[in-house]
Amino acid sequence: MSDIILEAICRRGADVVLTDSRSLREPARTVFFALRTANNDGHKYIAELAARGVGLFVVEEIPDGVDGEFIKVDNTLAALQHTAEIYRSGLSARVVAVTGSKGKTIVKEWMAEAFALKGETSRSPRSWNSQIGVPLSLLGVSQTAEFAVIEAGISMPGEMARLERMIRPEVVVITGIEELRPAEGYEDYAAKCSEKLLLARNARAVVYQASIQEAVDRSVPPSVMKIAVEVPPSADWMQHDSLLAREALRLLGAELPDDVVRPLRTRLDASDGVNNCTIITDRFTCDSFSLTSALDFMMRRRTAGRRVTVILDRLRDCDCDRMPQIDGADRVIYVGNGGLTAEQFRAEVSVGDFSDELILAKGEEGGVVSEFAEQLQARHHETVLEVNLDAIVHNFNHFRALLKPSTGIVAMVKASGYGAGAYELAKTLQSQGAAYLAVAVVDEGEELRRNGITMPIMALNPKVTNYDSLFSNRLEPEVFSFDMLDEIIREGAKRGVTGYPVHIKFDTGMHRLGFLESDIDSLCRRLLATEVVTVASVFSHLATADCLDMDDYTMGQLNMFTSICERMRAGLGYAFKRHVLNSAGIARFPQWQFEMVRLGISLYGVDTISVPETRGLRTVSTLRSIIISVKDWPAGTSIGYGRRTILDRDSKVATVPVGYADGLDRHLGNRVGKVWVNGALCPILGNICMDACMIDITDAPGAETGSSVEFFGENLPVSDVSDLLGTIPYEILTSVSPRVKRVYYRE
Ligand SMILES: *Cc1c(COP(=O)(O)O)cnc(C)c1O
Repeated sequence: MSDIILEAICRRGADVVLTDSRSLREPARTVFFALRTANNDGHKYIAELAARGVGLFVVEEIPDGVDGEFIKVDNTLAALQHTAEIYRSGLSARVVAVTGSKGKTIVKEWMAEAFALKGETSRSPRSWNSQIGVPLSLLGVSQTAEFAVIEAGISMPGEMARLERMIRPEVVVITGIEELRPAEGYEDYAAKCSEKLLLARNARAVVYQASIQEAVDRSVPPSVMKIAVEVPPSADWMQHDSLLAREALRLLGAELPDDVVRPLRTRLDASDGVNNCTIITDRFTCDSFSLTSALDFMMRRRTAGRRVTVILDRLRDCDCDRMPQIDGADRVIYVGNGGLTAEQFRAEVSVGDFSDELILAKGEEGGVVSEFAEQLQARHHETVLEVNLDAIVHNFNHFRALLKPSTGIVAMVKASGYGAGAYELAKTLQSQGAAYLAVAVVDEGEELRRNGITMPIMALNPKVTNYDSLFSNRLEPEVFSFDMLDEIIREGAKRGVTGYPVHIKFDTGMHRLGFLESDIDSLCRRLLATEVVTVASVFSHLATADCLDMDDYTMGQLNMFTSICERMRAGLGYAFKRHVLNSAGIARFPQWQFEMVRLGISLYGVDTISVPETRGLRTVSTLRSIIISVKDWPAGTSIGYGRRTILDRDSKVATVPVGYADGLDRHLGNRVGKVWVNGALCPILGNICMDACMIDITDAPGAETGSSVEFFGENLPVSDVSDLLGTIPYEILTSVSPRVKRVYYRE
């Protein structure tokens, strides 16, 4: 079958392999594989792609009435992988594969850059290293390439064998294997190592850090040359990764030039910029591959009526004077590749030329475009809440792995996504396949719809004042009282609404809102007497899921909820979804997951209970700013309003433009709170002002004007801050003022 696919690809010159319809760029040259994943089904997009000019499809089912050439297979993912395997076997390139828990992408990029000095080199785009990413990477390797560097990553046991069969590497680099995390599915660390080392089973040589020698001896066949690299304990990650890369390159007669060893900005940032623009910056290695994914990232943020501009620095793999074709952009500014020179760009393009548009600025660090992107980003907003969208995806999938595949996840994006901003999160969660979004008020839901979020949305606590908006935006209300039910029925009937989904809330012990068990009979009677609404779900909320010493109370709630649902089912005569677990509940009482669960705080990477199931969550939100002034003061000097801090030693004191108006709690002043600067925790001195605070940086190595200051996040857990204040992380996260710019990024 794969031969037939390859033949069709060659015959039609369809050398662009597509699995995500949103990334369509060159229809005539595209072959689309309709993949079925846990979250989506590529078959849904075939008609649209055909209409846009795609002519070749690999499918599991041939759709009716769509023009095009269809190749039917049993499993499109298997066909994609097998096609890549056959394509790979016909390549003459020498193939190096890189895997490991960390550092794969940078090692791959360095090696590819080093090989390129010797001969034509292909490599995996960005971090395309999965069961889908690897075949796509291989199918992108040029027939004439002398070298190919391919990244391989796995998320569960059993995946590496398949990757190995496709990649067939000559040399394998293992960047390191991290400790076992729960829910990874391996029996123990040794099993995890063996799985990763499968990549080397048919290789000529494997390069690894000496600390995993034992695992290598146990798992890699004797026929494979084993090259252990001794990494000095004092080495930082760059030295560590470059030692491994250097060794692997040597095996293929190449060297690693010193200037190639540099940090890599893998992040794609989206942030608000000057003149109401949104700026996407990409400082990754600038070539056509990475351009494709950056354009993708941008096009998904496009909204109707907004202009799209691309500013592009010279592409490394395009030394011709031909400017690359970019579809869908209203304006493209090229630097190099036959466009403007760097000098012309500096002279002719200014920040004032841009307003109210979506801008992708792609250029490597140090270049004119990267420099210009900083100006566009309105850098006077030094204080930002950074939101890591990959961490959201990671945490979502972490919880999904704890649940049955059929259980729906309601992602709580109330209070503007726990302060992180609902819209970007909603978009990310929609594409991850969350079952529902839950907002607190109708306005929040309306805003999401306006921005193109199409998935089901639940509105909790709606004091509905605008029923037109509720119904027209398909926002599904929570119903917690008879008054409310009557009002919805009355308003719905006026508008001719029927079968409108509502979510019935019961109070099983929280004692906040909800029907009581004793209401069931009359509630069912009213519900059966109307056509306006239909019960989409019945739910309740736990009061003590995160109180490890109150499980008796929780069990009481869970049992009462179970019996309420049984009586509702009998009373209504039709099925509905049931949900009762919040974050802590999912981790601790998964046997009560029913058909759905409601994931809140842990989606944002905050662990409120510290049980094994919540280990490995990633931080989503980081509040940071920069130092804007530094002074040395002698012991005895007072700092700030009311002289509340008197220095007890000669000190270096810095001022940071974050105050209580940004959401920094005043109770953290006068040495109660600390902030993170260059690895040191620095006390906040004096009373916190409205727009600024002062910190003691005497012990922070290298802290100076411009240094980054973290108030909570990546390095300083938000729960440490909430503990100091005697509150909970929820309050800290949701208190960051709207005036603080939110910056979203992917790694
Ligand atoms: C906020 C909320 C949740 C989520 O709780 P977390 O503790 O943040 O996971 C779930 N259900 C309801 C009804 C909520 O209001």
